[in-house]
Amino acid sequence: MIIGNGPAGVVAAETLRHADAQADITLIGDEPEPPYSRMAIPYLLMARID
Ligand SMILES: Cc1cc2nc3c(=O)[nH]c(=O)nc-3n(C[C@H](O)[C@H](O)[C@H](O)COP(=O)(O)OP(=O)(O)OC[C@H]3O[C@@H](n4cnc5c(N)ncnc54)[C@H](O)[C@@H]3O)c2cc1C
Repeated sequence: MIIGNGPAGVVAAETLRHADAQADITLIGDEPEPPYSRMAIPYLLMARID
């Protein structure tokens, strides 16, 4: 179980999946959105991306 679905949590999940394709991985976050790129927020605010 990974607590926190920011970049560190997502990379941890990807690393575990890479190491074990059958691993049971649970990623827990406390934001309503699925994981997203923080560095893309300015581009979203400037309406360059959806
Ligand atoms: C606008 C912006 C632009 C950025 N651009 C860049 C860039 O260009 N290059 C770069 O290297 N970095 C950039 N950063 C910084 C980068 O986004 C952070 O360094 C990175 O998000 C840190 O990742 P993290 O997973 O450690 O923490 P976080 O991103 O803070 O993720 C932690 C997650 O855990 C969740 N959480 C916390 N406590 C709990 C709990 N008890 N239970 C469940 N969930 C919990 C939080 O809600 C959060 O979603 C940018 C940041 C912002 C805001």
